[in-house]
Amino acid sequence: MIARYLGDILYSMILMTHAIAGAAAARLFPSNPAAAFIAAFLSHFVLDAIPHWNYRLLSHENNPSDPLNGDMVFGKKFIIDISKIFIDFAAGIALSVWLFSPKSDYQASILILGALGGMLPDALQFVYWKLKIEPFRSLQKFHRWVHTKYEIKNHLVLGVTSQILIIAIIVAASRLLG
Ligand SMILES: [Zn+2]
Repeated sequence: MIARYLGDILYSMILMTHAIAGAAAARLFPSNPAAAFIAAFLSHFVLDAIPHWNYRLLSHENNPSDPLNGDMVFGKKFIIDISKIFIDFAAGIALSVWLFSPKSDYQASILILGALGGMLPDALQFVYWKLKIEPFRSLQKFHRWVHTKYEIKNHLVLGVTSQILIIAIIVAASRLLG
């Protein structure tokens, strides 16, 4: 159980990757926080289109006949999920700042804003599962549509290396551009 939990944290660098991509996109708009945030938000969907490792959320209930009818059920499993998500989230924020070595507090805040923007679409999925109303419904439809249908599931090496490679490419590209 604990091994599996630790394994899940190691494999599911999902929010972390979205945070770093968001920061990478945001820092290209250093003097325009609104543009930085929007770029970060959009980076989420670009990244989702690439095959990647994914979370095993224990409390997530999928409805195969109606994919828009999923939910995350509150309970013991939900607590485990939330703790995983929190570790991933916190590591994402920390790495986003560390990887781009900001020169000022302002630059650091643009990076954090980007990291939050990059992760926001997944938080909005949760909002949709709980509320099932517009505009979250349309966003959820789009999110599912753009998301890759190919998931790297049982390949430990491939899953982790591809994730690190994606992060390295994103960081290098962002540093090259700005
Ligand atoms: Zn997503």
